[in-house]
Amino acid sequence: MGQTVRLVSKETLDKMKVAYQPMLKATPANAVFSAKTSNATITAYKSGKVLFQGKNPEAEAMKWDGTVVEKKQKQTTQQTHLYHPESSLYTQSIIGSDEAGTGDYFGPVTVAAAYVKNDQIELLKELGVRDSKNLTDATIKEIAKQIMLLEIPYSLMILHNPKYNQLQKNGWTQGKMKTMLHDAVINRLLEKIAPITPDGILIDQFSLPNVYINHLKTEKRTLPESTYFVTKAESHSIAVATASIIARASFVKEMDRLSERVGFTVPKGASAKVDQVASSIIRKYSEAYLDNVAKVHFANTNKAKAYLQ
Ligand code: MN
Repeated sequence: MGQTVRLVSKETLDKMKVAYQPMLKATPANAVFSAKTSNATITAYKSGKVLFQGKNPEAEAMKWDGTVVEKKQKQTTQQTHLYHPESSLYTQSIIGSDEAGTGDYFGPVTVAAAYVKNDQIELLKELGVRDSKNLTDATIKEIAKQIMLLEIPYSLMILHNPKYNQLQKNGWTQGKMKTMLHDAVINRLLEKIAPITPDGILIDQFSLPNVYINHLKTEKRTLPESTYFVTKAESHSIAVATASIIARASFVKEMDRLSERVGFTVPKGASAKVDQVASSIIRKYSEAYLDNVAKVHFANTNKAKAYLQ
């Protein structure tokens, strides 16, 4: 059994569908059609990818114009789950959601969802909307301002440190907190844009979809229709990139506020510099004070205490 994958044009795909009409078999989920010849089983997808599998896949594939798609060496399980979107979703009018602050010891977790219509994608790209991880804080603030001017519908939630720490002590994992925040911003935004319904909802994947869905279940919630998950979604989808900038800009603003409140600059991340600043906060205020400004279950708390001994 061999296999080969070809990428073909829409026209070729249509021609194939006609040619294989007499040999059609049951179509698998996500496929356009599937057929079986003496050479191979042919499975075609909306994206134009066609999989030839069987005794003689090359002979069958050669009948059609198409480019060879290199087989990926290792496909991660995350990329093959049921909620993986077709790439066509990225150019449709969708809700994207993303979060910030989850890996930072200081400051809140912020989660945003944004609804971007397909005819707004180009403009947002031109404004510099892209993965916020590659942008400076100043640029993020600037682009966030532009997004607000365009009146892109969005929803934002901030989980401040006292509440975060309380949930954590009650047994919530950070994954559950993120899940419930994504769910909340998405549902608020769905209400906000109603009666419009988006072509889909894309969540920047931070856990396996089944884990996400199980968290929802524990709070008696279900996944909205047409929800998809993909890792690094902000690099594929402008809606997710927009959400990521709104979330990040909010996080940056909250960090500025915390710095002002504490009386010195509170750093992002979770590095040794963070441990030092945490120990300064304990010295200036108390250990209990950290509950107001940090995710106290991070290892940084104990490292900060070690500095004081
Ligand atoms: Mn993300």
